Amino acid sequence: MKLVGLTGGIASGKTTVAKILERLGAAIVDADVLSREVVEPGQAAWHDIVTTFGHEVLQSDQTLDRQKLRTIIFNNPNARKQLEAIIHPRVRALAAERIREHTEAGYAVVVYVVPLLFEGNLQDGLRPVILVACDINVQRQRLVERDQLDRTAAQKHIEAQMSLEEKRRLADYVIENNGSLEDLERQVRDVLTKINEATSRPGY
Ligand code: ATP
Repeated sequence: MKLVGLTGGIASGKTTVAKILERLGAAIVDADVLSREVVEPGQAAWHDIVTTFGHEVLQSDQTLDRQKLRTIIFNNPNARKQLEAIIHPRVRALAAERIREHTEAGYAVVVYVVPLLFEGNLQDGLRPVILVACDINVQRQRLVERDQLDRTAAQKHIEAQMSLEEKRRLADYVIENNGSLEDLERQVRDVLTKINEATSRPGY
């Protein structure tokens, strides 16, 4: 089994690429999805968050008030560290479990989608790493449309992340997502073919 990393800036098209890869037969494990799963009411991370930050971070249905948590950690690096220390180990454990399940189910390629892969230096054990890249104007426009943000807010989100140039240097494959979905799918197919060819080469 090949454990492939998939990353890219905010709204660059990671989820879209992951969906195409899934359609082409790969198994997907998405760190964003897992990070929501581990904080569902009653889960260990949920209990730890309520103990650390108080009941005021809960909504009436007992789910986390994400906006409130974001506001708390926004200007408080210590609170951010505490929250990450609660969530990250649980996400890693759940990811390892899902990857094992997919491997046992016989998938040849398992793709682990991690938005801040390079920022967190989390690429160990993931090979190859695919980067979804797009021009900043396209990225900002997609972010504005999808999340109904204004241009300045979208720009701030983009600038808070590692630069695309730096990410390009760290990636094994780069998928350029500035064009149509058809163009994107063609590139995804090409990369998957290369990964499968490399895997089947003797001595790889
Ligand atoms: P995030 O980091 O915020 O989770 P993401 O990297 O997973 O985002 P997507 O959600 O896949 O990005 O894409 C962002 C938006 O851009 C979505 O609304 C998606 O439908 C759209 N999009 C992505 N690629 C294309 C494309 N080639 N053509 C048209 N729309 C696209």
